Amino acid sequence: MGSMTTWFISDLHLDAARPAITHLLLDFLAQVQGSVDALYILGDFFEYWVGDDALELAPMSAFQPVVASLKQVSDSGVKLYFQHGNRDFLVGEQFAAVTGCELLPEQLVVDLYGTPTLVLHGDTLCTDDVEYQQVRKLFRNPQWQQQFLSQPLAERIHQAQAMRAKSRAAMQGKAETILDVNQQAVEQALRDTGVGRMIHGHTHRPAIHDFMLDGKPVQRIVLGDWHETRGSFLRVDVGGVALL
Ligand code: MN
Repeated sequence: MGSMTTWFISDLHLDAARPAITHLLLDFLAQVQGSVDALYILGDFFEYWVGDDALELAPMSAFQPVVASLKQVSDSGVKLYFQHGNRDFLVGEQFAAVTGCELLPEQLVVDLYGTPTLVLHGDTLCTDDVEYQQVRKLFRNPQWQQQFLSQPLAERIHQAQAMRAKSRAAMQGKAETILDVNQQAVEQALRDTGVGRMIHGHTHRPAIHDFMLDGKPVQRIVLGDWHETRGSFLRVDVGGVALL
């Protein structure tokens, strides 16, 4: 994979029911191990996450090989970063400890070979989906999270699956444009942070968007979601970016 490179992935939606995607990931992790600068996971790595303590138990124990592989990657000297998505916002410090990853805040600017870049999951940019933004506020409330995590595992899984079904049903009733990012929110985020490039996932619409903002060329890179037959990757090095 070449050294002096940084890789970004997101939206794998790892699910014990879709083991092919887990295998694609394990192949990828074996390749980056020891050979790249950093790997950023920008959210929705898991289809759902009901607490780090569940990792020992079925069905979440299906992800033990993923955890072991992430640990090998971080032990090999690759910096491993994890940002929460709207599905796996409950990934916590225990997960970070067993994988050797660093949990990132919901958005931050990182320097990528001299280019300051805003990285974020992307759901906060979907401001046209007012209903979702309200739910998001609830899910990110520490009190709500604490109460959710205090329930027995079976109940947490039951609730996570119910929320997933509800979210899927809600999405079906919404226009495509509502589920995409809001251009004003994108521009505001770039202005607020003063950078000319952002990388995000969430919308499952992989693309590199070049446009002008306040007279300067800027770039919005969108990672794709993973399918049984192929992953989606962004490679960044001194020469530029490649969305694969
Ligand atoms: Mn998402």
